[in-house]
Amino acid sequence: MAIENTLSIIKPDATKRNLTGLINAKLENAGLKIIGQKRIQLNKTMAENFYYVHKDKPFFNDLVSFMTSGPVIVQVLRGDNAIKINRTVMGATDPNEAEEGTIRKEFAETIEANSVHGSDSLENAKKEIAFFFAEIEIINQ
Ligand code: ADP
Ligand code: MG
Repeated sequence: MAIENTLSIIKPDATKRNLTGLINAKLENAGLKIIGQKRIQLNKTMAENFYYVHKDKPFFNDLVSFMTSGPVIVQVLRGDNAIKINRTVMGATDPNEAEEGTIRKEFAETIEANSVHGSDSLENAKKEIAFFFAEIEIINQ
């Protein structure tokens, strides 16, 4: 295993319900360290670019509307095997399929408004972190 950084987003459904602290506690309890974090408002262009891989999916326009419907918290998580560990603590995309104790099982409202995003590979983690953070904003410890 290796120490990795991964990108996490606390989505608008969760910021709206003031769940940032509870979600951060789940991340920290899973052994992930929050080494970068900021609350921002995405605009349409940013959300479209971030989710470009899904541009041909039927849910793309709704997803962009949802992600711009309120503030998000973008964060860099660091730890041993961080990408996989974050995906595990997030739970399945559809909260109905998410395991007990996961963030999405506990907090997600729907398959779309599912409270968190997490990078799914090392390559995507690097791209997604660079999308939101300047190097000077990330302290690797
Ligand atoms: P994940 O976030 O688990 O990596 P995907 O990358 O497949 O999932 O999808 C990106 C996001 O698009 C999801 O987190 C969710 O917000 C939304 N989404 C995925 N599938 C659907 C769907 N069938 N209907 C509506 N929204 C969806
Ligand atoms: Mg994904």
